[in-house]
Amino acid sequence: MNAVTDLLREDLQGFAGYSSARSEALDGEIWLNANESAWPNPADGDGTCRRYPDPQPADLRGMLAALYAVQAEQLLIGRGSDEAIDLLVRATCVPGRDGVVVTSPVFGMYAVSARLQGAPLIDVPLLDDPQAGLVPDFEAIGDVAAVRGAKLVFLCSPSNPGGGAIALGDIAALARRLAGRALVVVDEAYAEFGEAPSATTLLDALPNLVVLRTLSKAHALAAARIGVAIADPGLIAALRRCQAPYPVPSPCAALAVAGLSPEARVATAQRVGNVRRERVRLRQSLHALAGVLRVYPSQANFLLVRFRDAEAAFRALLAAGIVVRDQRAARGLGDALRITIGTPEQNDRVLAVLSALEPATARIAAHGRGAA
Ligand SMILES: *Cc1c(COP(=O)(O)O)cnc(C)c1O
Repeated sequence: MNAVTDLLREDLQGFAGYSSARSEALDGEIWLNANESAWPNPADGDGTCRRYPDPQPADLRGMLAALYAVQAEQLLIGRGSDEAIDLLVRATCVPGRDGVVVTSPVFGMYAVSARLQGAPLIDVPLLDDPQAGLVPDFEAIGDVAAVRGAKLVFLCSPSNPGGGAIALGDIAALARRLAGRALVVVDEAYAEFGEAPSATTLLDALPNLVVLRTLSKAHALAAARIGVAIADPGLIAALRRCQAPYPVPSPCAALAVAGLSPEARVATAQRVGNVRRERVRLRQSLHALAGVLRVYPSQANFLLVRFRDAEAAFRALLAAGIVVRDQRAARGLGDALRITIGTPEQNDRVLAVLSALEPATARIAAHGRGAA
């Protein structure tokens, strides 16, 4: 069987990347090899920032490996999962030749990275199932990826903006079908808010699978820019060679380590519990409004909502100082807004604004339904 690293660009096979002063395995007491300042900046409390950071901070890497129940060698830390997306496209796709499959409507960074690399974008739109919501068309993805020579397939689970999670069996079947031909990337930015097990549980059996996780959403550390790719150790080592020399700023690594302490993880679990509770309440309340056509089932920290008059809803919310994500330019979502789950008070304000838009008769009907 071939190694999964055969899926890397041929011209990058054997590429060693930048050799930084930090990467030379030398030992000493007086470090004069990296042109760092010998004196700290007064703003740098403990003086650690005068040195270049560990490219993959060992303590953080260990904590993330434990958090996601994988080995440290399976994990690459980057500047958010956005960087992992970009690295995957750059490391695997020869411009003008190797395609990237996306399933619209979906998170826009896959297409942005493909465009920047000059990789053909292949869209296999999600199917809109009356019960399940927006779901991938796995038959079509497998066919199109094979015919058009795709190197990467991006799946998002739970999906943004659809909110639905993908069954692991479907992911595994697709990865098997594309073995030796393409990497299947499962972006799990919202996994903590759902109930489904992570696709990391499939990694041992499926070397062409990559899972993306982030501290930006459930862990409430978006500004720290810490995300990871989890995959075959050989593939991770190759991606690292394509990455910037010092991708993880030490203040960010320190914040992430503190943010993953046992106490912090208890707080994270509580926040996730709040989101799940509010998601149920907001979905039911929105559903009861006459101006709401559909609220998609969500395993994430947002709801995708179709409106009778999305323009009026968007404007009324904005006039009340509430900014939601306009999805009307996204494929098939001409009447949809994406609303992030806020605090109970914020969600009440959203509901108050949208209720006030309702014609009086509909309000009475909605109220009657809610009380029943
Ligand atoms: C928010 C989001 C990300 C970005 O994560 P970062 O780690 O902050 O870069 C990745 N994927 C999806 C689907 C997202 O919605």
